[in-house]
Amino acid sequence: MTQKTVIRGKVRVVPAAAHIRSHGNGHRKPAVKWVYRFDEVDAAEKYAKCWDGVRALLGGKGANLAEMTRVGLPVPPGFTVTTEACNIYLAAGNNFPPGMWEQELDALRHIEKMTGKKFGDPANPLLVSCRSGAKFSMPGMMDTVLNIGLNDETAAGLIALTQDARFVYDLYRRLVQMYGTVVMCIADEPFEEVLADYRARREVANDADLSIEDLGTITGEFKKIVREQAGREFPTDPFEQLKLATEAVFHSWNGKRAFDYRKAAGIPHNLGTAVNIVTMVFGNMGEGSGTGVATTRNVSTGEKEIEGDYLTNAQGEDVVAGTRATKPIAALKDEMPKPWAQFERICKKLEKHYREVQDVEFTVERGKLWMLQTRDAKRTAQAAVRIAVDLAEEKLITKEEAVKRVCPEHVDFFLHPQFDPAQKKTADLIAKGLNVSPGAAVGMIVFDADTAESWAKQEKKDVIMVRPETKPDDVHGMIAAKGILTSRGGRTSHAALVARQFGKPAVVGVAAMDVDVEKRLFTVNGRAFKEGDWVSLDGTTGEVFAGQLKSVIPDFNDPYLIKLLSWADKIRKLGVWANADYPRDAERARMYGAEGIGLCRTEHMFFETNRLPFVQQMILAKTDEERVEPLAKLLPFQRSDFDGLFRAMDGLPVTIRLIDPPLHEFLPSHDELLHDVTELETRLKLRDGDPLGFDPLSLTGILAQKKKLLAAVESMREANPMLGLRGVRLGIHLPELVKMQVRAIFEAACQCAKEGVDVHPKIMIPLTAHKNELKVEQTMLEEEAKTVMAEQGIEVDYQFGTMIEIPRAALTADQIAEYAQFFSYGTNDLTQTTFGISRDDAETGFLLEYLEKSILPENPFATIDERGVGKLMELGVKLGRQTRPDLEIGVCGEHGGDPKSIALCHKIGLNYVSCSPFRIPIARLAAAHAAIGEFEKDL
Ligand code: PEP
Ligand code: MG
Repeated sequence: MTQKTVIRGKVRVVPAAAHIRSHGNGHRKPAVKWVYRFDEVDAAEKYAKCWDGVRALLGGKGANLAEMTRVGLPVPPGFTVTTEACNIYLAAGNNFPPGMWEQELDALRHIEKMTGKKFGDPANPLLVSCRSGAKFSMPGMMDTVLNIGLNDETAAGLIALTQDARFVYDLYRRLVQMYGTVVMCIADEPFEEVLADYRARREVANDADLSIEDLGTITGEFKKIVREQAGREFPTDPFEQLKLATEAVFHSWNGKRAFDYRKAAGIPHNLGTAVNIVTMVFGNMGEGSGTGVATTRNVSTGEKEIEGDYLTNAQGEDVVAGTRATKPIAALKDEMPKPWAQFERICKKLEKHYREVQDVEFTVERGKLWMLQTRDAKRTAQAAVRIAVDLAEEKLITKEEAVKRVCPEHVDFFLHPQFDPAQKKTADLIAKGLNVSPGAAVGMIVFDADTAESWAKQEKKDVIMVRPETKPDDVHGMIAAKGILTSRGGRTSHAALVARQFGKPAVVGVAAMDVDVEKRLFTVNGRAFKEGDWVSLDGTTGEVFAGQLKSVIPDFNDPYLIKLLSWADKIRKLGVWANADYPRDAERARMYGAEGIGLCRTEHMFFETNRLPFVQQMILAKTDEERVEPLAKLLPFQRSDFDGLFRAMDGLPVTIRLIDPPLHEFLPSHDELLHDVTELETRLKLRDGDPLGFDPLSLTGILAQKKKLLAAVESMREANPMLGLRGVRLGIHLPELVKMQVRAIFEAACQCAKEGVDVHPKIMIPLTAHKNELKVEQTMLEEEAKTVMAEQGIEVDYQFGTMIEIPRAALTADQIAEYAQFFSYGTNDLTQTTFGISRDDAETGFLLEYLEKSILPENPFATIDERGVGKLMELGVKLGRQTRPDLEIGVCGEHGGDPKSIALCHKIGLNYVSCSPFRIPIARLAAAHAAIGEFEKDL
């Protein structure tokens, strides 16, 4: 017998036995299990089949609380309502699935037995927290309610029991506030205003310093806010509190901030959240109690030291909210030596158990340590690399695993600009804070998330989001900003976590800074900075500068990264080459690990000011004879370009692509010329002479020249130049031009070879559609190559090949390979010609709408369209190698540096990818991921 279960939005069939619970009297009634106690992880694992399934079912937090319970760590008793229950609740119009609530009550009774306390009983009340927890951690994006179970009666009972009215009132007012905001969706401000008002009246800085009476009155005022704003009383029935809190957590899965976060982090929207009901333990029972968050290693640098913050006499949210100045975790050693020693041991045990750096939450209640959460720690790119390498060297993970754990974006960070150290010395340093997320960021100050988003997205401005502290509602602004700056908060504050997650440079806890969001300014040491002013943040050092600092590309010398990439190199099958036109690019590419040049776009050199006049002269020439002189002028330039490339890539292949773009691109635009001609004609007609003072004779001369150019441009005009006289067609049309290029290549190669440089030129013909095109052009050019080598008296190793960037070329690759000795996919043009979408206009035009409306799942100019373009590529590989089994095939479109496209290139058996020098390290890692198969799993 089977039954259907909705899991992650899909219906899957599971054996009914997995869902059967015993219902007394030996009578077995099938019932879906919606609730798992923390000590029931074995059952969850049996049902979910694997640990990943347990995390999908119980959420990361629930799964890990259960796992910590299983390995004997001190976790307060509790249980988890599954993500399946959440998905059904949301799909069924906000109705709990049948039996779920009863199972929650059953589990609650079990906690009562374990703790000896009773939910709702004033004599010894059990209080619980209700926390969200999805499969993938989404810090602070969903809701939590603490201290559930308090009402006037249980509060009085708890005071009698603890003899600590301050503590109980503190819990009670927090519960009402969280209820108001989380369950009843009232804004936080009215509650915060009451607290601020009392703090001001009593002249104290912290809520904890308010008197018992004040806390009691504040609770009353909070209830009034709930009554007035929500139109209903704060519920006094603990069971109603629990029910509503469970529902609120389910709903928070679909809240705006959770949705935005998932969108940015690439988390699917159909996973749902679990709900964890946990016995409350209290860090706010005086100075012998406390609460904190820590990571088992430093997640900014990767160093092996426990890092974090804590507060004495506080509840968890005080630490992450950044509203109170936290103490560094190292101070716990002196303040609470025993719990600290146990905590240190637990951290080690957790790392060993999970084979990963953990981010933990703990509470010390009157000297007793409790673990409230563990999860894999988010980290900066620098820390990710170091931690992966260290864990592999500590033999906790394999080298392969270490490579898998670092994502391409992490590597990208190492190539990101940093501020120029020389310029920093003289820069206007205005303050220093905590360096919680490295990198350099420059932007205009904005004070709220919506402005940050609209300035960045609509107005295309670089912005720095400045806040006293950030909250989950700010995430969309933080993602849009270049960097984040806050006056409060610690290393584990919300701002720090989110910044690290999204790789945004951030400086937090700048105590000298006073942020006035209302007035849209911040002051620091008597200086005011207003919205729109420029600031520069150094997230690596925590420095904040006035104005716009320049940044530089850092040296590529991080020893951990170098080691990790060397491991990746051993794993990957794909070669990684570079698209480089100039020797300096080639040198950088080589430094980053390029194994060849896959594309040198020769026409780029034609645009340089000392060459363009000869290029234009060559284009305007009417006869072959007229073309001889400008081509002779261009030859030495090209020769020296190639000479530099061969020397930089000594021993490695250099693929040089012959001229590709339509010739009119080297001439002024038609519209510009027409405008000039009309203007000159008007100026010549003016009776009072030229307003700019030119004499008519020289004006006539200029006009004649412009008219000549205009006529030439008009004669070359094509309705679709991208589909016109370019690529191989141009070479056939102007053979002397490509012959000059081949001569330059071989003269340079021969000269280098004579000097002992190991040269491997590969001449690449663009835009081939038919084998006869190659037959004509390649035959002619090979002859020229041989002539040059004969003249030079030396032979060099060379190949002639072609780009495959027209569907016909892919479809007839077997015929093309009769001539081409290698293929390189020009996926920019191949995407353009396969989709029939212009590559130059698409990304600013309707394609954006397509992406927004999900008509296309991805931008095909960024990631290869696997089903269409990818299919052509696969066919091209198959056909090409039918003719030439050892045919070398690469890709040199922009996709060569895109990890997902790299995975596809690996899959269809290409030999190498070629990308911009700055993407080389990323491509090395992505190619290793592809080889491991990691990438396919993630798709
Ligand atoms: C391509 O089309 O993918 C390519 C590399 O050539 P270009 O971008 O120069 O047209
Ligand atoms: Mg192209």
